[in-house]
Order: sequence, then structure tokens, then C-alpha cells
Amino acid sequence: MSKVNNENIVKFRKEISKLKRETYNEVANCSCLLCNKEKRIIDSHSLPQFVLKCIASNGKVFWGPGLIYPMEIKYGIFDKDCGVNDAGIFHLLCRDCDKTYFSEYETTENYVDINQDSNLFKKMLLQAALKQYLKEFYKNKFNYLLESKMSEKYAEKDILNINNFQILSNLSEVDYKKKAFKILDMLSESNFDNLEIIYYKTVDYKIGIASQCIISLDLDIKGNVIQDKYNFDEKYNLEDLCVLILPFNDYSIICLYHIIFERNIYGEFIKQFNQLKDREKLKIIQASMFEYTEEYYLSENIFRKINRDDNFNYYVKGHDNLHDYIYSNIGPNKEDKAHSYTEYWKKMKLYLLDEFKVVKD
Ligand SMILES: [Zn+2]
Repeated sequence: MSKVNNENIVKFRKEISKLKRETYNEVANCSCLLCNKEKRIIDSHSLPQFVLKCIASNGKVFWGPGLIYPMEIKYGIFDKDCGVNDAGIFHLLCRDCDKTYFSEYETTENYVDINQDSNLFKKMLLQAALKQYLKEFYKNKFNYLLESKMSEKYAEKDILNINNFQILSNLSEVDYKKKAFKILDMLSESNFDNLEIIYYKTVDYKIGIASQCIISLDLDIKGNVIQDKYNFDEKYNLEDLCVLILPFNDYSIICLYHIIFERNIYGEFIKQFNQLKDREKLKIIQASMFEYTEEYYLSENIFRKINRDDNFNYYVKGHDNLHDYIYSNIGPNKEDKAHSYTEYWKKMKLYLLDEFKVVKD
């Protein structure tokens, strides 16, 4: 951002904060997305607060963008950390819908002695995915508007390829909303036929990472193409995997699952995944989360450790992903990406292990 230097950074941060407030007011709905009634829209939390509280220090948690975007943090576009009450918030639902549609997943007791074959757990997984798709829908809507305002205000079209950003945001927005409503149908019919649990594990320690993220893998473990993330045809829909990492006070759960929307395309990936040892499976889950999303929250200790992790900084922060496409208009070279991804997951530290657990003060 050529116009911004250290002298006017305070002014810039104030302006950004104003633009964010304006954006917030503009994207605010006066009717609830799920019941369509004109009701007060409340703060919905993508991750249950009882999970975030388990990894918070002084009421705060750190999050993915705090690791990946140092410039944006500096300019006040994102914050490095946030209060548990403000983490993962979106504004789309009325109080009744927020309470009704996620009640099983928002009940702490339901996470004790989970039976992964039970309909209760499957329902909880669909509810978690529904929340995340709604959050992604809201986030895309918000970011698209904010980026448009920034681009207009600063005319910094050289630093931000706004056309690419707009195409991506619009498509993602529509896609996330469509998928959210499909999950809603599955939930109302108690139809779990399209839900496949790929991995589930409970560990007896507190992991310093909490996440409920959606991943559109484009390459399998051997580097073969699963789907084309850069196909922006409206009719081409991406299929996603969902990751759930939930820390509780003295245990944590890790789950990888797939909701089949249109195409069952993860068969080969799942076959390769099932042949791996447990530690490698966890590595694939962690690497996919770091590589494909920024939707994860961290304890302060883990945040500091990852921030100093050279492998993370080289492969994740400096990687050739969607972020690069948006900013440079150059799609990644698939072979390089496959190589870089394989290199990364083999070398990386596995923060889901016991040795990185969160210990009470
Ligand atoms: Zn409602």
C-alpha cells in the first residue's frame, strides 16, 4: 500500500475501522436468513463458545489470519486476536433460529462419550457444517463489500486485483448459501446418507487449536487433481471436506468428514488416507487446515510457537494459493503446488500431538 507509511498509519487504521463499521451496517439484514421473518438479528458464533473458552487466555484467543497476514494486521484490516465473545461472529439469524437449528451441537454434554455411529453425532456434524457455511457466506459478503470500499477509497488497484476478488467472492457467496440450505434439508429430513465420517478420534489432552473448517481439496495425497479450484464457471461446484477440532478441558475431539452435495469425488483421497498411519492422518488434517483455510483459533502458546515455525512461514504464509491468485492474477502451477504441499506435510510439526497440549496455569 504505497500511500501508507508509518506516519499516517494511525489515520489509516481509523479510516479502515470506519469502513468496517459502514460495511457492517450495510450487510446487516433485517430479516432472518433461515425463517425469513423480520426479527432482530443477533450475533451468532461459528464455534461454540464453551470450546473457545477452553483455549483462551484472559478471555482472548488468537486466530489464523493473525499468523498469515502481518501487513493486514499492521493496517488494522484484521486483528491478531479477539475476545471469545467476538470470535467467529456472523449476523444472519434471529435468536430463535440460532437456538433451534444448532441445539444438539451447542450442548456440551453431547460431546461426552460420543458414539460416532449415532444419529445424534451425525446431526451434530451437519449442524457444525451448517454453521460454518453460514459463517463463510457472511464473511464473503462482508469482505467483498469491504474490499470494494477500500479499492474505491484508495484507488490501489495495483495492489489488489479487484476483478478476481469480486468473481471469487460472488461465486463463493452463492455456493456457501446453496450448500447451507442443502444441509438444512438433510437435517429436517434426518437424512444422513450423504454424510461420510472419514476420521474420528478422541484424545485425553487439550489441543491448543479449535476449528470447524471447510476445505475444498484440489489435490489428493499423491498430488493427483481432485477438482479444479480455478474453474469459475457458475455451474461448476466444488465439493468440500469438513474438519472439526474441538478442545475441552481434559480431552479433545478430531473429526474429518465429507458431505456429498453433488459429486462423490473424494473416493481416491479417502482410500489413500485410510492407508496412512494415525500420525500421518493427523498431519494431513492439520496441513489441509493450514493450507486451505484460515478458520482456526489458537491458544496463545500455540500461536507463538506457530509464528516462529519456519516451515509454517515458508510453506503456508508464503504459499502459492488462492491468495496469490487474487493478488497477482497468476494461478499456481499444479506440479509445484503438489510438490510444496507434500514437502510441507512431511516436514511440519504436528501441533495436534500431546507434546503441544495446553496445560493449565
Ligand atoms: Zn429466524
